Amino acid sequence: MPEYMYKCQSCGEAFSLILSLPERAEKERRGEIQCPKCKSTEVEHTMESFYAKTDRKS
Ligand SMILES: [Zn+2]
Repeated sequence: MPEYMYKCQSCGEAFSLILSLPERAEKERRGEIQCPKCKSTEVEHTMESFYAKTDRKS
């Protein structure tokens, strides 16, 4: 699954979430994407990475 990078508009915290496309759309629509640090939902989507699914070490 892709990893989505976000940046909090409130405190500047950068964080990432690994979500499927429908999960991400649903969470964004509901405003459920939240900063893990200050719990603000004022987050900006910065970029996405697909490395999460290929960078397996098992
Ligand atoms: Zn924050």
